[in-house]
Amino acid sequence: MSDIAARVRDLLDRIPTHVTVIAVCKGRSAESVSEAVDAGIAVLGQNYMVDARRIGPTVAGRASVHLIGRLRSHDVRPANLKMFDMLQSVDSLDLATRIDRVSEALGQQMPVLVEVNSGREAQKGGVVPESVEALVREMSGLTHVQVVGLMTMGPLLAEPARYHPYFNETRQLFRHLQSLCLPWVSMTVLSMGTSDSYEVAIEEGATMVRLGTAIFGPR
Ligand SMILES: *Cc1c(COP(=O)(O)O)cnc(C)c1O
Repeated sequence: MSDIAARVRDLLDRIPTHVTVIAVCKGRSAESVSEAVDAGIAVLGQNYMVDARRIGPTVAGRASVHLIGRLRSHDVRPANLKMFDMLQSVDSLDLATRIDRVSEALGQQMPVLVEVNSGREAQKGGVVPESVEALVREMSGLTHVQVVGLMTMGPLLAEPARYHPYFNETRQLFRHLQSLCLPWVSMTVLSMGTSDSYEVAIEEGATMVRLGTAIFGPR
């Protein structure tokens, strides 16, 4: 068994089945990604359009593909959106409105996550926690975009235990939004935790973890 297959099996054995494991593909070969899918990975995370286009054909029909990297407004075009089953990094009404228009033209509804800037870092993408409810309320008027949850990255920390407050605040926000029962909003996905922090994220209620290094090894 390859190292990648062995690591995938081990992770899928240890991570509770209600948590979806996303394999993060940035910087990986199509062959490595294909091995991860063969070993049981059902969802791939792409940071860049070029990676999605390069790896897409190798895994077509065998895995869902989620955009987890920064989404720029000029990237919101039919040819790009067609590659994804979910967009996890929506952080403005302008982006959401563009996605809504393109999805309508494609005759589909796009599931999206609102990215939360839980570390309140100026240089990071995402919406600060205070502004998430207002954005989700505005997005609930867009009928070709369905808000299905929240995603967060959190700051880069040396000790996994220090992620608790960031993931906890995001989970509380998630629960609060669930309680609002807004139209076109179904809060079911909480995407948080990477190779360093996924155990803490799961303790804090993550339903999806995004793993690169833990699956493919160091970059
Ligand atoms: C790279 C990346 C990950 C995975 O990071 P690892 O430390 O390799 O597990 C998860 N989420 C996002 C948004 C990323 O860019």
